[in-house]
Amino acid sequence: MPSIRSNIVVFNLITKRSFSTSYIKKMSFVEKVRLLDYWKVQDSALQSEFPRSRLVLMVDRRLLVTKDAPEVRMVEHSYGDLKQLLGEYGLQFDLSNSCLLDALEADTDMIPLFGTSIEAADPPEDSPISKKDVLRQLGNSLGGSFTDIRMAMLTMKEERQRNLLAKFQSLTKWAATYRRCPKCAAALKMRTSKSGAECVTCQRVYYPTFSPVSITLITDPTNEHALLVRHRGSAGGVFTAVAGFAHTGESMAECARREIAEEVGIEVDSIRSLDMSQPWPMPDSSLMIAHVAVANMDQKISVCPDELETAQWFSRHQVRQALETTLSDPFLKNLPRTLDDRQTLHYIPPAGAIAHQMIRQWVDGKINCHSSRM
Ligand SMILES: [Zn+2]
Repeated sequence: MPSIRSNIVVFNLITKRSFSTSYIKKMSFVEKVRLLDYWKVQDSALQSEFPRSRLVLMVDRRLLVTKDAPEVRMVEHSYGDLKQLLGEYGLQFDLSNSCLLDALEADTDMIPLFGTSIEAADPPEDSPISKKDVLRQLGNSLGGSFTDIRMAMLTMKEERQRNLLAKFQSLTKWAATYRRCPKCAAALKMRTSKSGAECVTCQRVYYPTFSPVSITLITDPTNEHALLVRHRGSAGGVFTAVAGFAHTGESMAECARREIAEEVGIEVDSIRSLDMSQPWPMPDSSLMIAHVAVANMDQKISVCPDELETAQWFSRHQVRQALETTLSDPFLKNLPRTLDDRQTLHYIPPAGAIAHQMIRQWVDGKINCHSSRM
């Protein structure tokens, strides 16, 4: 945590704005981080910035994204524009349903980026217009369309956008859930930024929680085959890497080794971290941490039936074909429909998923099994 002194430095920087029109031209990364840290804890300072802010929007837990554009991105609005456009539909937002996501460069200054999440009321039962139609019109008025968060995470190309969405969804859900102190049951006072909450009685401070998850690509010792799995209930024909939550007291490598044993019933010889990770907000907030592991193909695979439908070894050629199918159909519109075909490798997860990046790197020969033993 930055020191009080650093906050004072940032505070001086901020208050300087009111005295000087030639404020600093461009903030360094360190200054930006410290400004964000200041806004996180200084409710009144952040509240006074709100009318200058930019915002991204969720309505009924669906995200406003660009429509008919080649790249899926979150649509940003100024506070004033959003207030007016939502107001035309009888909708409102305020700080209570907004969380601080980032600091953006404005002309000569930095302004906050908020995520705001609102609910739209259902139209009367006898209304000739459905809520779906209203949201479609609202999306058009706001320069985009509403999409579910999972699809947005899977299809947004830019990592920064995906991570901001993960933060938006996670903080929104955490702030709605964390209302009482787990220690003394008194009410919690949520920070304006939604980055923490303090108990009004015992003064304990609580921070947004998330769970570490290992996600592991399993290869054979020749590195020419990969073991991929199909999750129960996942889209037909989509295979991915083995993933699971870390337990208390486990290192990430121990977590990966246990999850592989639990889910596919095999032992791996070595495990290596891939120096890749991804925040993932569904169903709850997690941090996916990528690994590669090596296992002999002569081991009998036995899948955990509660979690998986199947697990199979595939050649690099088979996985490359699935990668190419996925890249040519990024929204997975042509998923197999027949039951038999659903169990065959057709797709890997779309480009926004860390599993896609891992599998793609392996297909391209950028991940190998030469690693230190665990
Ligand atoms: Zn308490």
